[in-house]
Amino acid sequence: APAPPPTRHHFSDPAEVEALRGNLLAWYDRCKRDLPWRALAATEPDADRRGYAVWVSEIMLQQTQVATVIDYYNRWMQKWPTLQALAQASLEEVNELWAGLGYYSRGKRLQEAARKVVSELGGHMPRTAEALQKLLPGVGRYTAGAIASISYGQATGVVDGNVIRVLCRLRCIGADSSSLAVIDRLWDMANALVDRSRPGDFNQALMELGATVCVPKAPLCGECPVKQHCQARCRKLFGKPIPVPDVEDCGVGDCPLCPPATEPWDSSLGVTNFPRKAAKKQPRAMRTATCVLERRGCRGGPEYLIVQRPSSGLLAGLWEFPSLPLAQDLQEKKEREVLADHLQAWMGQPVAAKGLQFIGEVIHIFSHIHQTYVVYSLPLEGNVTLDPASPSRWVTEEEFHASAVSTAMKKVL
Ligand code: SF4
Repeated sequence: APAPPPTRHHFSDPAEVEALRGNLLAWYDRCKRDLPWRALAATEPDADRRGYAVWVSEIMLQQTQVATVIDYYNRWMQKWPTLQALAQASLEEVNELWAGLGYYSRGKRLQEAARKVVSELGGHMPRTAEALQKLLPGVGRYTAGAIASISYGQATGVVDGNVIRVLCRLRCIGADSSSLAVIDRLWDMANALVDRSRPGDFNQALMELGATVCVPKAPLCGECPVKQHCQARCRKLFGKPIPVPDVEDCGVGDCPLCPPATEPWDSSLGVTNFPRKAAKKQPRAMRTATCVLERRGCRGGPEYLIVQRPSSGLLAGLWEFPSLPLAQDLQEKKEREVLADHLQAWMGQPVAAKGLQFIGEVIHIFSHIHQTYVVYSLPLEGNVTLDPASPSRWVTEEEFHASAVSTAMKKVL
């Protein structure tokens, strides 16, 4: 690829790069959070297990907060401490452990990839970012870079949401940060900046900085270990970015990395002028009727009917109360009728629509869907024979919570 043009949006001074690496790593050594996967990656002598541990943590951390992940990670590693153990697990077990973590296809793909490592790669993890990305399903450029640098010491950069924010601020990159031009430039910058002797720590430090100091809304610039290298902070304090020797200032409007001329620097936003994102697509609205069928169990307590979702698509393979997507603007009477028909298909006996008791609505936001569950209940008398060929079962409340059910269904209950 041609060398990037000499703008202020990258690091051109080797002495500055050295200083930034040193400051960031010294801060990381002092302030890093104590996280279980970090301890394992630092002390585990078995390289495959190191790679596996970082891989599991990285997949869990996608779209999920660190505080939530810790417990899931510990339980996962206790249950499946090696790739070989995970490869032998059933999808049902994986879904059960993953329940509540969201984006369920991540767990499924992790397990499929573990099976591939065991059956096709002799049980050994690939050792470079390029090979990891190429050979492991579900491992993208970021995850591959994280595993290779943290577990195997490869000097390769990473770019995730935290790194995007930090780098865009350090170098006043104000063009749409999801555009290919910006993402490519950030990868080049991450690869050039990464510390050659401690690449894993450097990458984790950059991400840690974004997660704890250079946060989206109110960054703690006064405590920032790289503040003297930050163009956004300089612009906020002095009205213009740090002067860079031998580098032309970008003319606003014709630079592909500056904020667009239509939305120039806004001094009320300070450093949070960066990064900029194109407007998000509105999530799609969906309505789903769901029915909690309840019977008296053999021990006298209530039991609920749960059924399994198809093995592909949203929430694949998870269990739920019998549910049915509804057309928008359906009248309540019609809603009950279609739900009653749906229940009849599961139960093999007629269900009277007027017996369904409306309970309320539960709203759950998936990444791209604004889902409203219209919740009904139906207490049943006597025995109901389920079709043994259909994926359905009766569970107590305790069994329900231990099953592979989504967070949305727990809200419904
Ligand atoms: Fe982020 Fe502020 Fe540090 Fe710049 S000085 S990198 S804006 S925390």
